[in-house]
Amino acid sequence: MSSPQPRPNVADIPPYVAGKPPAVRPGMVSYKLSSNENPYPPLPGVVEAVQQAVGQMNRYPDMGSTALYAKLAETFEVPADHLSVATGSVGLIYQLVQAFCDPGDEVVFAWRSFEAYPIAVTAAAATSVRVPLLPDGRHDLDAMAAAVTDRTKVVLVCTPNNPTGPAITQAELDAFLAQVPGHVLVVVDEAYLEFVRTDDPVDGIATYRRHDNVVLTRTFSKAYGLAGFRVGYAVAPAPIAAALRAVSLPFGVSTVAQVAAIASLERRAELLERVEALVAERTRVVEGLRERGWDVPDAQGNFVWFGLGERTADFALAADELGIVVRPFAGEGARVSIGEPEANDRLLDLATRFPR
Ligand SMILES: *Cc1c(COP(=O)(O)O)cnc(C)c1O
Repeated sequence: MSSPQPRPNVADIPPYVAGKPPAVRPGMVSYKLSSNENPYPPLPGVVEAVQQAVGQMNRYPDMGSTALYAKLAETFEVPADHLSVATGSVGLIYQLVQAFCDPGDEVVFAWRSFEAYPIAVTAAAATSVRVPLLPDGRHDLDAMAAAVTDRTKVVLVCTPNNPTGPAITQAELDAFLAQVPGHVLVVVDEAYLEFVRTDDPVDGIATYRRHDNVVLTRTFSKAYGLAGFRVGYAVAPAPIAAALRAVSLPFGVSTVAQVAAIASLERRAELLERVEALVAERTRVVEGLRERGWDVPDAQGNFVWFGLGERTADFALAADELGIVVRPFAGEGARVSIGEPEANDRLLDLATRFPR
């Protein structure tokens, strides 16, 4: 072969199917409920801070993200050297696999779960081990622990699980960690942490403090409403955080992203009020769906899951016609984000019309 060839694993990388933007319909506002974004516009102070920072676009960002590390350390009461910031938590997941896996090493995760997992694993020439979810959309943690082999380097635990919605409890996580050997890295993907309202929620910070092999990944994309700026952070014991920083893309987190993240942490109380309103909408939607006879799984993120199987494409089409865009997973189901009250009303309308 005379032309340059990428490594064979590159051709095996599954495509990331991004949520579609809403179709433009004359005379009708359409809503995007396909990417679990925050429907609220940015908080006023955040926009101003970013506008100021825009003037520095000729300069590289602070490569050490010093001010952001300091703010995160203060907010979550962790040492700054237990943190690693990155271009979204997707960036962190890539870095975790890159730093901990040789080609052929195994990464265990539930399936279906976040679609970036097999992409990151395959890109690193590592091997995905997918453990089917339980019928109610929960992780089968016993089966995941049993799937750990001599080749396993990383286990990804997604709570709440995207796209099905249930969260694991602290008791379940503790029991799981007791079964996993200490040399296996357990990543707790807490992208939707702020939306969890269960009796025994995972306390990620307390958990990582008790275990040398636990890393938390978190993001500013969902509750904080900064999806467009690409910033996330990991909390981990110092050696793991150092490994993540070592493989990070130099200057990956832009100045505007750093500034927006800091300004958002300063306004955390205000942002968490918005989360509370979204949680109230989620409750309204889930109750409304159940009243209409839909058996949806427990929804602990900012989205609900419809396990529609072969009817998924029809459901997505019917949603389009009502001016809401959902995220179909062909042959499996549809994930629908909690959006503006009007958008959520349309989902309930769809749930009334569409055959169960
Ligand atoms: C949205 C999401 C992320 C975060 O992605 P970013 O790269 O931070 O925008 C991570 N994990 C899960 C499960 C998600 O749904």
